[in-house]
Amino acid sequence: MTRSSSVIALLSLACALCASRVESQTTVTRVALVVHADSADRTWIDAQLAQASSLFAPADVAFEIIEVRASPAGSSLASIEDRAARDALGSRVVTSRAGEPTRVNVFLTERLVDVDDPPNERMGVHWRRRRSRNVHYVIVSLRAWPTTLAHELGHYFGNPHSSTPNNLMSYDRDGTTPPFFDAAQLARIQSHARRYTRAGLETITR
Ligand SMILES: [Zn+2]
Repeated sequence: MTRSSSVIALLSLACALCASRVESQTTVTRVALVVHADSADRTWIDAQLAQASSLFAPADVAFEIIEVRASPAGSSLASIEDRAARDALGSRVVTSRAGEPTRVNVFLTERLVDVDDPPNERMGVHWRRRRSRNVHYVIVSLRAWPTTLAHELGHYFGNPHSSTPNNLMSYDRDGTTPPFFDAAQLARIQSHARRYTRAGLETITR
């Protein structure tokens, strides 16, 4: 090997190492989450969150609870019965100068009434406050399935329902395949994460 060819070989090796370093340094957006709960057990919350973080991992989005907050005096999350009660939760959401939530807010309730079909109940909902639709949040019933929070966060990050069986955003899930997001849904999550961050959503850096 000549001197110049050994220099070239060394440089190529350095570049290869450099490229593998870049590939392994994916930036994960860690979204700050506030859980509003009067009586929820932390293990239950953590299990829901672990499901969400694992399903959002291919989009390089993760969630971290930075606060669990009880209801202010005189109010309760025991039963959310109508649209007005859902809207009222918006007053607990802190917004940025752009008028968007600075954190993802999750409200846990013992009873979430289906406002389109009362007194039936729902497992969860992504709700936009009717008089200020930029203010949005997730409400989850304590009777929810393990992936309900992940599904509602899927809506929060821009995804409508899907007709693909076993997709996380589908109602047609038989449990034979683990739920998943497809490539278009993951791209939508990433673009919403960027947009929300620009509008003041808090992220955690390590
Ligand atoms: Zn849904």
